[in-house]
Amino acid sequence: MVVVMTQEASQADIDAVCEKARNAGGEAFVSRGAVHTVVGLVGDTARFEAVQWTQLPGVAHVIKIGKAYKMVAADLHPEPSMVSVGQTQVGRATFTIIAGPCAVESVDQAMAATKAAKAAGATILRGDVYKPRTSPYSFQGLGEEGLEILQACRKETGLPIIVEVVDVSHVAHVAEVADCIRVGTRNAQNFELLKECGLTNKPVMLKRGLAMTIDEWLQAAEYVAQRGNSAIILCERGIRTFEPATRNTLDLAGMAAAQHESHLPVIVDPSHAVGRRHLVAPMALAAVAAGADGVMIDVHPDPERALCDGPQALLPSEMEDLGRRIAAVAAAVGRPMNLP
Ligand code: PEP
Ligand code: MN
Repeated sequence: MVVVMTQEASQADIDAVCEKARNAGGEAFVSRGAVHTVVGLVGDTARFEAVQWTQLPGVAHVIKIGKAYKMVAADLHPEPSMVSVGQTQVGRATFTIIAGPCAVESVDQAMAATKAAKAAGATILRGDVYKPRTSPYSFQGLGEEGLEILQACRKETGLPIIVEVVDVSHVAHVAEVADCIRVGTRNAQNFELLKECGLTNKPVMLKRGLAMTIDEWLQAAEYVAQRGNSAIILCERGIRTFEPATRNTLDLAGMAAAQHESHLPVIVDPSHAVGRRHLVAPMALAAVAAGADGVMIDVHPDPERALCDGPQALLPSEMEDLGRRIAAVAAAVGRPMNLP
């Protein structure tokens, strides 16, 4: 059950709802959205139903959600939510391009990739400084130095930055610097990491785990929301199937299913899904046509020399061309682009 508070509800009103929940033997989790604060109730539904919630001051209405996830469920919000990242917003109202290097490698490489992202119409810059690599011998990221480079790229172009966190110990610091933090596919069910992200005041992008069902993905998102942070963007990035020719299998139906089940924005990462440059554009264009809320794409000035995921990175000219084609498909399906 979820208690939705009115816009005018005071802290005392919210506290009173939590107190009632505890008195009914349950637990209450407060989540503050852009417009409404909601209180998720976990416990014995029969005992909650006996409480006259709507008689309490500051309560707008009550929603019964019989699912394992509540705060992120579509039942909670009739309208899909928009998530603010820096000065821009991600969600159903527009189509957002996020682009940048897979990993920050140097000032020159990151700056060139950032400029290419911006020229292609991206309104958010991606770039990682902690890389969760399959092999311990592969490049692991520049860490703190990389964060400084990303800040310089943001200063130069004005693009907000999204950065992956791979450990609980990174979260507070990365959240201080970045405009959005990301949990990657390998950590999508690292519940301690998700809880820590839920304690920050920055939006969180949650990628789908390699072998996660939609239901598990939404329950992982619930971990973040339950700690008080409902500014979550879901990202479909392909799932593990029997087919190695396309690296992972991009599940566009899964993207649409997540949009149906949840009020959260859902974007698509075709780069990490397909792992091969020539397959990125077809899947990015399919994602736009299928109604995704955005795409996140790897771009690199010199993919041959990339320290991470070079085979899937687009050259700046390819990225710019793809930006134009994305805008054309978005226009054809009546979707305005997210503009700077
Ligand atoms: C990435 O986006 O750089 C990344 C590591 O992606 P994923 O977690 O989807 O593998
Ligand atoms: Mn990568």
